[in-house]
Amino acid sequence: MIEWNEQQRMIQGMVRDFVQKEVVPHLDDIEYNGVPPYDILRKMIKTFGMDVMAKQNFDKQIAREKAIAAGEQVEDKKKDGPSAGAGEQAAMTMIPIIELCRHCQGLVTAMGVSMGLGGGAIMSKGTTEQKERWALPLLTMEKIGAWAISEPNSGSDAFGQMKTLAKRDGQGGYIINGSKTWITNGPYADTIILICKLDEEGVSPQDRKIVSFILDKGMPGLEQSKPFKKMGIGASPTGELFLSDVKVGVDRLLGGSEDSYGRSGAKATFMQERAGVAAMALGMVERALELSVQYAKDRSQFGRPIGQNQLIQLKLAKMEVARMNLQNMVFRYLETVASGKLMTMAEASAMKLYAAQTAMEVSTEAVQIHGGYGYMRESRVEQLMRDAKILQIYAGTDEMQIIAIARDLLSRD
Ligand SMILES: Cc1cc2nc3c(=O)[nH]c(=O)nc-3n(C[C@H](O)[C@H](O)[C@H](O)COP(=O)(O)OP(=O)(O)OC[C@H]3O[C@@H](n4cnc5c(N)ncnc54)[C@H](O)[C@@H]3O)c2cc1C
Repeated sequence: MIEWNEQQRMIQGMVRDFVQKEVVPHLDDIEYNGVPPYDILRKMIKTFGMDVMAKQNFDKQIAREKAIAAGEQVEDKKKDGPSAGAGEQAAMTMIPIIELCRHCQGLVTAMGVSMGLGGGAIMSKGTTEQKERWALPLLTMEKIGAWAISEPNSGSDAFGQMKTLAKRDGQGGYIINGSKTWITNGPYADTIILICKLDEEGVSPQDRKIVSFILDKGMPGLEQSKPFKKMGIGASPTGELFLSDVKVGVDRLLGGSEDSYGRSGAKATFMQERAGVAAMALGMVERALELSVQYAKDRSQFGRPIGQNQLIQLKLAKMEVARMNLQNMVFRYLETVASGKLMTMAEASAMKLYAAQTAMEVSTEAVQIHGGYGYMRESRVEQLMRDAKILQIYAGTDEMQIIAIARDLLSRD
């Protein structure tokens, strides 16, 4: 794949029009004035039939699971190789990410965490009953989801220092205590995937099992904070969760067993997040480059456009190299999905590391090209720069990606 096909270009144009009409006029409200982003996202999902598509896929998966449970013969999806349209579907997910990120990366973060991490965790690890009870409204954004692993003392070392504990209550349920922080959608989430440790007598803290629960807003003992004030992605509300003797039945234990989520469940989520970051960075870099080229033509100093100076040309040329690299990475990811293959953790980490650093470098240079105007909110390049910084921090910091890549390289024979 070297470029979008005709149909994809048509969808790209339609999404771009939508963003121009429905997002850009509300940017200040969702970025700076505390207006939650969810109504805009719901409108986009409905406009492009993403809710209908999500429901069709959901119904198919549930029907399949029920047929398997009833002992019926169903086709082995893996045996047939890549499922028809897997690449197409992935492209249809990437296009809105890229287009939204050209103007408002926060919208993608809020949407991705709700649908992809919240809904995705239930669809990949939940029981059929849990999927039917909680997943669909998250996949259509009718309800808002959060995925909570980070704690005040456990970020990069998510499992090592985790203090939130679930204790068996002796009646088949659990009591959860602890807190989570920097949780995307935390302040507004209707459904929360909470990752914690199982407090078992005789098991040392480092050997505790990782378990995950599905919580609902308003459960006794669960408190959701107000949104934090942040450097960027104002359109993605971030907050804290406090859990004080939250009582849950086994019906809320993700996967229905203490062994169904574990460390591998959380790691699968990390991988999914990492692949999405390249598309986010591509949208941001495309926009930073467009604005910079325009400014380099329009702005004159010393009697000629600043774009006539080689120092400015070098910046623009490097931005174009970065844009091409990111686009190639996104297309490679789509080809990988289309061929039914999975990326390794090292590949996903390498992609995330490059994408995050590149978005930061390009957006910083875009501010530089815009000079004083670049420091002004009105220029929008300063927003791209502040928003880019988060790509180097969440979904695993740059340093954690480097460790993941190096570990993989060094473990090969
Ligand atoms: C806006 C935002 C949204 C977020 N959304 C969510 C969410 O929805 N759900 C969720 O669970 N979490 C979320 N997070 C949390 C995020 O995943 C963590 O902030 C991130 O994993 C880093 O953890 P930390 O902040 O504790 O940094 P730390 O782990 O304390 O790291 C601090 C610095 O030390 C470096 N460092 C740490 N260990 C090493 C090492 N071994 N070698 C070298 N360097 C190291 C790090 O790379 C970093 O530079 C979000 C954070 C932000 C800011």
